[in-house]
Amino acid sequence: MQVPFGPLHRLANALRGWPVLEVWYHPEYRTPLSSLEAMHGVEPRRADYVAWYLLERRLIRPDQLRQPERIGYRDLALVHGDAYLESLHDAQALARIFGVDPSDVTVEPLLSTIRLACGATVEAARSVLGARGRTRHALNLLGGFHHAGRSRGGGNCAVNDVAVALAVVRRDGFSGRAWVVDLDAHPPDGTLDCLQADGRVKIGSLSGSDWGPLPGADETVLPAGCGDAEYLAALRALLDRMGERPDLAFVIAGGDVVRGDKLGMLGLTERGVRRRDALVAEALHRVPAVWLPGGGYRKEAWRVLAGTALVLLGRPGRRISPSTDPLTLRFAGIARDLTERDLTDRDELITQEDLAELFGGSRDRTPRLLGFYTEQGLEHALHRYGFMEQLERLGYSRFRVAVDATGAGDRLRVFGRDEESHEHLLVELVVAKKMVAGAEVLFVNWLTLRHPRARFSPLRPALPGQDVPGLGMAREAMELLMIVARRQGLEGIAFRPSWYHMAYAARRVGQFADPAREGRFQAMLRDLRELPLQEATQALAAGRVLMNGAPYAWEADDMVQWARPDHARVDEDAVRAERERVAFMLRP
Ligand SMILES: [Zn+2]
Repeated sequence: MQVPFGPLHRLANALRGWPVLEVWYHPEYRTPLSSLEAMHGVEPRRADYVAWYLLERRLIRPDQLRQPERIGYRDLALVHGDAYLESLHDAQALARIFGVDPSDVTVEPLLSTIRLACGATVEAARSVLGARGRTRHALNLLGGFHHAGRSRGGGNCAVNDVAVALAVVRRDGFSGRAWVVDLDAHPPDGTLDCLQADGRVKIGSLSGSDWGPLPGADETVLPAGCGDAEYLAALRALLDRMGERPDLAFVIAGGDVVRGDKLGMLGLTERGVRRRDALVAEALHRVPAVWLPGGGYRKEAWRVLAGTALVLLGRPGRRISPSTDPLTLRFAGIARDLTERDLTDRDELITQEDLAELFGGSRDRTPRLLGFYTEQGLEHALHRYGFMEQLERLGYSRFRVAVDATGAGDRLRVFGRDEESHEHLLVELVVAKKMVAGAEVLFVNWLTLRHPRARFSPLRPALPGQDVPGLGMAREAMELLMIVARRQGLEGIAFRPSWYHMAYAARRVGQFADPAREGRFQAMLRDLRELPLQEATQALAAGRVLMNGAPYAWEADDMVQWARPDHARVDEDAVRAERERVAFMLRP
């Protein structure tokens, strides 16, 4: 759907004649650090979401999605010293660069992610240079690691993909002028360090933080909270100062310039970011250019990057509906492909157990979850949804899936082995069909996603109820449970959050079945919003929260996520009345 987008319409027409955009992406772009989401509010699935959104909405064809190879060490060594590259094979060094506890780092998968992203920036640069009038712009869905210097990393940047790409094309014979237009909210300190010997490159940057002088770069530090108009004026001035158009450009279309970003300090709207990207695309018309996402430290950062893709696809005004959820789109597509036979190991209409029963033999005792899914069917499905692969990247292997029955419902457990071959419980789920709010739902009596290789630390304190850190895969788990509920003809999923942070995680998709309880929860979200989630849930667990002046104990009531959103039959008036009646505060 198109929305009026003012002058962007004119630009859209200009861009429509553009050649096909190449989008570089690899399923291993998801950084295998389980604490990023919980501790830093980062969406580790940003690249996946954009790729899935573009594909599922048919904004690109599958062959426009290009899969990179890992960059080789010979190419990396054009920029980075051997001692520094060697140091990256150490969990401590990587943990420092990404701001996580070393126990959260699996060295090989993380290095693989970094090398794939860098490889894509290099291949994209080669591709746009060699395109000869065809594709001139490419978008890599991970990269723009501008804080990595020649012999140091930091700020989530281990190697400098832009500097490596420029060094590789130079070695291959490219001698033209290059621009680096760095529109991430932070300064390009590492890029400057890497490229200072290259006299034919211009670095222009707009930042929201002052990290001191950057000799050799055209850097403008904008005031905190800087809005669209001031930013776009500064961008026009920068593009004017950049002078004669280059023969190759790298654009870091930072997602952290948006208002509300945890680290970015600037205050652009998403529409303002589209205008930013459109201005740069216009300035670089017919210039081979590689676009990179840089930072973006919000759950919704994928929408900004998808917006960049839409601008480059000549669709700058296309609106992304607030309800669009690429994970739901993607998983629904996989679910359609998984047949009953895949999930149940049932081949024919008349099964072996039917025959056994008919002829008086013993019944097949294959354990089944909800009388349907076999262990092998579940393992196959978890593989198809990418769940097992993500567990592997977190350092587990040789999985075992077990299904049995408990007093509280059917149980699924997934075990995996660590490097020392110790087997750990990773996933435990107990579910039953149950009536909630007058509807039959899949009731989740118990769900735990455990990451026993990782340790709690000051960087990652334990949440109430956790014995080991989590896997960072709750989104996938809840989406899969909804697919199970739909397949079983149920009206939704329900669970009873024992802690505030569990209800918080489900706040957008679920609601308490009891309207008054939902009202109190919404009031709590409203009144505790300034508090980091970690502190809010600790305070509630410790009884340090007051409701209308009196001590408040967390109420573990049923929360429901309906399979059909229009099914939500909450009495909105009752919710509102309670929300307005109560106020929460921390005990002084
Ligand atoms: Zn940044």
